[in-house]
Amino acid sequence: MIRAQGGLCIICLRAPAVHVDHCHKTGRVRGVLCFNCNTGIGLLKERPDRIRRAIRYLEGTRGSQHS
Ligand SMILES: [Zn+2]
Repeated sequence: MIRAQGGLCIICLRAPAVHVDHCHKTGRVRGVLCFNCNTGIGLLKERPDRIRRAIRYLEGTRGSQHS
């Protein structure tokens, strides 16, 4: 799986993939992440609704800074 990702984290595509991320409900391997990205989604409780709000927040902030 790490080779399929080119050895890089599947989220940031920059850092080396070092952490195998499992779905905590099913135990399925979701992908291999770098330390920071794994920590980041963990801090957002792996909740897609929260992560989507974080994305909107970041994009909204960035948009207002450039307009
Ligand atoms: Zn990463």
